[in-house]
Amino acid sequence: VDVLVIGGGIAGVAAGYYLAKAGCRVTLLEKEAVLAYHSTGRSAALYFEEYGVPAIRPLTRASRGFFDHPPSGLTEARFLTPRGALWVGRSDQMTSLQGELAASGPSARWLEPAQAVEIVPVLRPDYLAGAVWAPEALDLDVASIHQAFVRGMRRLGATIRTGAPVERLRPAGGGWEAEAGGDRLGGDVIVNAAGAWADEVARLAGIPPVGIRPLRRTAFMVPGDPSYAGWPLVADANNEFYFRPDGSQILCSLADETWQEPGDARPQDLDIALAIERINTATTLAIRTVRSSWAGLRSFVADRAMVIGFDPAAAGFFWLAAQGGTGIQTAPGAGELTASLVTSGAVPDRLAALGIDLAALSPARFRAGG
Ligand SMILES: Cc1cc2nc3c(=O)[nH]c(=O)nc-3n(C[C@H](O)[C@H](O)[C@H](O)COP(=O)(O)OP(=O)(O)OC[C@H]3O[C@@H](n4cnc5c(N)ncnc54)[C@H](O)[C@@H]3O)c2cc1C
Repeated sequence: VDVLVIGGGIAGVAAGYYLAKAGCRVTLLEKEAVLAYHSTGRSAALYFEEYGVPAIRPLTRASRGFFDHPPSGLTEARFLTPRGALWVGRSDQMTSLQGELAASGPSARWLEPAQAVEIVPVLRPDYLAGAVWAPEALDLDVASIHQAFVRGMRRLGATIRTGAPVERLRPAGGGWEAEAGGDRLGGDVIVNAAGAWADEVARLAGIPPVGIRPLRRTAFMVPGDPSYAGWPLVADANNEFYFRPDGSQILCSLADETWQEPGDARPQDLDIALAIERINTATTLAIRTVRSSWAGLRSFVADRAMVIGFDPAAAGFFWLAAQGGTGIQTAPGAGELTASLVTSGAVPDRLAALGIDLAALSPARFRAGG
């Protein structure tokens, strides 16, 4: 199978790698001059199996083996390092905290304020009504994971073209013809891994959208201290903020979800100011300085599950979209599933055993009768 993958974020390179491994001739087309410029280069880099709607969790579990034992020769890096997550709440957030406890897996446990302060000493005991400790959250080395897929694709003979925006797509010869970067390329299958632009790519092909909503999330770095390195991620029970140590700095976020058109997301001063106010209220960090800031798009469809599968309305058009806030931690599993569906139409036994529900991921759910 000749496959054209559109998008060089984590979804595109993971799918490209597994497709090439399955024997497909793969060409990946990325509109930017560099890969991973959009959402993939802007994440908070966390792996947490209980995060996201139930339909995507088997994809996270399916990815764990790749992260723990990457194929030999693809990386020298360690992809996962222990972090832990601490959900914190005020007295008015007790219901949300109880919900986190129920949703955070068997190893999660309830902490009283004093116990939470032992783990993260800057938390204000008078702010906290309780906390949920989820020790199994891990940090991901996103750049190394992305690079490993790129290396794997190249070794398997795949072609990666940057500065190649796909501007036209039309059915041709039983497959597709794409115009990108001034060239015409043919493929039996299109894999639409265009992130926030996935609906726009579908429109180029004359295919109805699935309702991708790109939601902006703001992040920024403030001065920290190397002695904070062992802290977990600290997240508000209602997603009003989170922070975690990052080297000698602290990565902070408003955990915002603001709709915007697909594009180069930029942080807003007001969002940063609001996050600082909330974090300063919950802690004694007394943040005054921001060292750097950025924003990225987390793209969802209405039910917050991903969209993975062939479009029932257009032969050879495969969706790999709506990665939301879990696109990194699910990438190996989603890539493996994509390659299997493209080459054989079947879910691999390994993934089926983890409980993948294809109907919950299929683009057919957005079509008439779906
Ligand atoms: C602040 C923040 C925190 C996050 N934290 C986490 C986390 O802790 N854990 C986690 O797993 N996930 C997290 N995410 C989500 C994760 O970053 C995304 O789910 C993931 O990066 C999506 O990958 P993607 O490849 O689908 O999209 P992208 O990385 O955006 O890639 C899509 C690519 O398609 C290209 N493209 C678009 N249109 C065209 C075209 N016409 N022709 C050619 N190329 C095209 C774009 O240029 C882009 O490079 C976070 C995201 C943000 C913003």
